[in-house]
Amino acid sequence: MSGVVQAADETWKTDDHFLHPWQDVTAMDRDEWTHLEASGGIYVRDSNGNQLIDGPGGMWCVNVGHGREEIVEAVADQMRKLSYFSPWSMASTASSELAQRLTAMTPGDLNTVFFTTGGSTAVDSALRFVFFYNNCLGRPEKKHIISRVNAYHGSTYLTASCSGKMREKAQMDMIEDTIHFLPCPKPKDRAADMSVEAFCDEKVADLENKILELGADKVAAFIAEPVMASGGVIIPPEGYYKRCHEICKKHDVLFIADEVVTAFGRLGYYFASEDVFGVTPDLLTTAKGLTSGYLPLGALFISDRLIEEIKSVSNEPRSFFSGFTYSGHPVSVAAAQANLDIFENDKLLEHVREISPYFANALKSLSDLPVVTDVRVQGMMAAVECELDAGTPDENRDTGFTAKVDAICQELGLLVRPTYNACVMSPPLTITKAEIDDMVAKLREGITRAMQVED
Ligand code: PMP
Repeated sequence: MSGVVQAADETWKTDDHFLHPWQDVTAMDRDEWTHLEASGGIYVRDSNGNQLIDGPGGMWCVNVGHGREEIVEAVADQMRKLSYFSPWSMASTASSELAQRLTAMTPGDLNTVFFTTGGSTAVDSALRFVFFYNNCLGRPEKKHIISRVNAYHGSTYLTASCSGKMREKAQMDMIEDTIHFLPCPKPKDRAADMSVEAFCDEKVADLENKILELGADKVAAFIAEPVMASGGVIIPPEGYYKRCHEICKKHDVLFIADEVVTAFGRLGYYFASEDVFGVTPDLLTTAKGLTSGYLPLGALFISDRLIEEIKSVSNEPRSFFSGFTYSGHPVSVAAAQANLDIFENDKLLEHVREISPYFANALKSLSDLPVVTDVRVQGMMAAVECELDAGTPDENRDTGFTAKVDAICQELGLLVRPTYNACVMSPPLTITKAEIDDMVAKLREGITRAMQVED
């Protein structure tokens, strides 16, 4: 399934005038970046000509792998036919066809799609739709949002405010009065004398208690990733997601599933909420794997129920005053269609379901390394947590160890995503068993060598 990597040139370059996402502004003239020049299959090639396994799959997004000519061709064809249309005044056949294809795949009655430019704009649109919905229903005070510590929902003002990485909020202004955070449902935090069931009860009770504390008439929505991704691959206890959904239904609180990472095969299904966790959310957001990162595209799916309720109370037009110049961009849409064709032709979901236990076992074999304190894997997303010293693990603490692992692994031919004290792995879903073995051997070597490096 892997493709061919082309030759590259040039060596390290400086990026003195390029402020990268999450970059230390004071370090722009010092930071050195690995420049990537070419790619194919699970591999990318840096500007020194080194081939690297793309361990994080870009940013959880290169699901069908790099260098898929089918997507390149589909995109070029679409550009030749129609490179842009104004979504305000026109429709494009390409976008309407994708809307049809996707809404036939979504769980339950999520039969309306609103296209966005990526994950943040999908989540932002979901939250704004929730506000709009409650305004239409004549209950403008129902505006509070409940999220969780360590969640990540995006980089707009609203979605960053709903993200629960407390360290990252410190120097950025955020909305604070209407956004609330529950403790992270991280099974590793369970006390030794507490059963898994009691831990789950406690985390579900956190949600209900928060709704009761704020007043159900004030709480608009609960937002959750089925498996927290950049928060460190936090896999909640069995039943948690479904029970949270039930609590939301009981208190008339909308449930927003943020499937920006977990959709399109990462957990072995097109959408994880229903197929993995048995939940049909009221709103579902996605992006990344929708185009496998070939072009930016996001989508918000809205349940028929919400649309019908708005219609039923409205004797006047109710415009959702929200949208983007690039909503349903026909070229991104062409990339999504070709991407979905690859899923079907390569039987990629079946491949993930078959190979993911192997992926899990291979990564769990790293648990014998003294510094590895937890290996969390679901589907094709994983975090190998590394703790240098004893004590309570804290996912907001960063000892710099995993950055060291990443640097060493790059010398060995592997990209790792250091996320606080975890090495996050979410390779292209096309990965083979032999490639998994190679990836995990390199990670083992990288962690082992990092343990030997003096500070
Ligand atoms: N939600 C989740 C769960 C994500 O992981 C991300 C991105 N990593 C986003 C939203 C934001 O998506 P984007 O970066 O495409 O705006």
